Amino acid sequence: MSDSDKIKVTILPTGVMHADLTWLLIDPSRMATYQQPDKKKDWVEVPTHVVYIEHPSGKKLIWDSGVPRDWETRWAPSGLGQFFPVDAATEDMWLDSRLKQLNLEPNDIDYLLLSHLHLDHAANAQMWAKTDTKIIVDEKEKEGAFSFDGHNLGAHIKSDYDGLELDTINEDTEILPGITLLRTPGHTWGTMSLQVDLKDEGTMIFASDSLYRSESYGPPPIAAGIVYDTVGWFASVEKIRGIQEKTNAKVIFGHDANQITELRTGPGNSYT
Ligand SMILES: [Zn+2]
Repeated sequence: MSDSDKIKVTILPTGVMHADLTWLLIDPSRMATYQQPDKKKDWVEVPTHVVYIEHPSGKKLIWDSGVPRDWETRWAPSGLGQFFPVDAATEDMWLDSRLKQLNLEPNDIDYLLLSHLHLDHAANAQMWAKTDTKIIVDEKEKEGAFSFDGHNLGAHIKSDYDGLELDTINEDTEILPGITLLRTPGHTWGTMSLQVDLKDEGTMIFASDSLYRSESYGPPPIAAGIVYDTVGWFASVEKIRGIQEKTNAKVIFGHDANQITELRTGPGNSYT
């Protein structure tokens, strides 16, 4: 079998934020207590990534769209730039740089799959505004993302996705053979994960913010900050675990600074 008969996955780091770890892990062992009211806060790296997928059918897909070059001005009105500065991104990491490295124009992409519409995942979606690319989100995410007035609701900044034609799924959906969107809500109304069944590597599950880091997964899972529905979040973690155990999948966390260094990443470094 030649490589052109296989699904090919390229993980593209798209810029590193920093944040207080408390946003990502609601971990009592890190919290201030009566005895230790001044416990030191952990200011940690929060890497982001996008996944580029080439399918044997000739279709090209992108999972998520990363962080914006102009995060400082774009995120100022929400106040979130103070909490999640993208202060460790290099020129080669921004999504437009990544597309150039791959010799791609936005219109070359058949499907843009957005795990959810938060500012660090949907920020570059407007690059696809006037293209034929099919943009897919969970129907609950779309509903929630347009349910408020004004500039932003938490980490949903409406201008990131306003005006785009967003197609929706309302159940786990195989987009192309071997590429399946999984409904894993909890972090937001309709956060999705992505299952890719690869010939050589086996199954990979891109959990996005359904699992920020390895500690989020456990077992036992450590609850995350910024969660719309905690009960739903725990159920989604176990849904992912069930699929992981059945398929022996490798689970890729949304923002894990250790794991990303252990993965093959960047153009030319792919999984098949
Ligand atoms: Zn995120």
